[in-house]
Amino acid sequence: MQFTHLGRAAEIGANSYLLKTDKARVVLDCGMHPKNEGMDAVPDYRSFSGEAVDSIILTHSHLDHAGTLPVVQREHPEAQVYMTAPTKALTDALLHNSTNVMSSKGMELGIKEYPLFGHKELERLSKKWLERDYKKPFYMDAEGTVKGTFYDAGHILGSAGVMIEAEDKKVFYTGDVQFEDQTLLKGADFPSEPVDALIMETTRGMYERPADFTRKAEEDRFIQAMVDGLKGGGSVLIPVFAMGKTQEVLTLIHLAKERGLLAQNVPVFIGGLSTKMSYIFDEFSDSTRRTLPGFNIFEDMEVQTGSRKKRAPITYQPGAIYALSSGMMSPKTVSNIFARSFINNPGNHLLFVGYAEQTTPAFAIKSASTGDEVELEPGKDTVTLNCNVEVFDFSGHAPREHLLDMALKMQPKKTLLVHGDMPAMEWFRDQLKEKAPDMEVIIPEPGETHEI
Ligand SMILES: [Zn+2]
Ligand SMILES: [Zn+2]
Repeated sequence: MQFTHLGRAAEIGANSYLLKTDKARVVLDCGMHPKNEGMDAVPDYRSFSGEAVDSIILTHSHLDHAGTLPVVQREHPEAQVYMTAPTKALTDALLHNSTNVMSSKGMELGIKEYPLFGHKELERLSKKWLERDYKKPFYMDAEGTVKGTFYDAGHILGSAGVMIEAEDKKVFYTGDVQFEDQTLLKGADFPSEPVDALIMETTRGMYERPADFTRKAEEDRFIQAMVDGLKGGGSVLIPVFAMGKTQEVLTLIHLAKERGLLAQNVPVFIGGLSTKMSYIFDEFSDSTRRTLPGFNIFEDMEVQTGSRKKRAPITYQPGAIYALSSGMMSPKTVSNIFARSFINNPGNHLLFVGYAEQTTPAFAIKSASTGDEVELEPGKDTVTLNCNVEVFDFSGHAPREHLLDMALKMQPKKTLLVHGDMPAMEWFRDQLKEKAPDMEVIIPEPGETHEI
């Protein structure tokens, strides 16, 4: 069996990998680079163009794993596409939204390839997406030579790692994984059996978590920040990713209200793509592993939504909580537009709950001090940062020690490190070399093929 890295650089970027046996070709994830544009954002799919693809596996519905699925499907209409039922619903919403985003970027920045696919094509291609449950093996090729099994990855709703068995070998691909319970989602339910090869994400390889960190304490600190924020007469803005983080934050607000820490009548606003994604989370509230079984956002909470269709802006009022996407406050998104009349008010609180790339407004604000001028959108007036800013760790990715434990437990002969910046992958390589000297550890270069 052979493994090929299809990304254009060894980084988090756009995730896609090819597994090739004597009889079959399987593509693992078809991501889109979150920062690059045009063809630079698309993995290099040339290495198998003109050859038949048996199946495509989608581990979860984040853009860096699912964003170019239609591009591969268009070239390979013969491929069967497998994913969990929640991933299917979320990916459908994500990619239709992505078409809209690409259309406006295409016009604005003159990117002639955009949109990479249209709504009609997407509708047609999505008919080939097949749902598979966790822990229910399925065949990935017509001859039945490659078997796959999904395992809950605890990263976002529907996320999965996949065990692939072919040619008497076992390969496990983690996708993105979190082993700890989040506020709403249960942690990963991964196998621990020995494998021949492990393809492992390394997102947090550079992050050393404080020894006394607990998710519970972080949740309490976050709830307290909301309480303090409202006490002073201001409002609270939480920039969130539409998928996953929004629903985690809403659950925390719900718990704070249930416990009487926040008044029941504190208005909560969400906006942007979050509304649609939250409805999908609700759809699966009874059929997925959760810390709060059956909890339903729109039934159990009063959430106010900005109308996306009419583009009705969400207006500021004191004493309210705003959980708005995007998480990195990218220009033209709801959280970015809202921040313009929010961050200059010293009574307000801005709470960050996720990762921000270096070039984004969220990163600029995190790095700024009170009184600094912040650029929210290139070419527009800067805004003075006067509000309080606090940062929380609610990562959907496993801390590095947990991934290391998994790799040592599964005893792979080969570990292929992916989905991380170079220093992160190097940390894992050095640790594994020390703790498991017989294991071969590989940082695959783009375009490189490795025998498994
Ligand atoms: Zn992800
Ligand atoms: Zn990812």
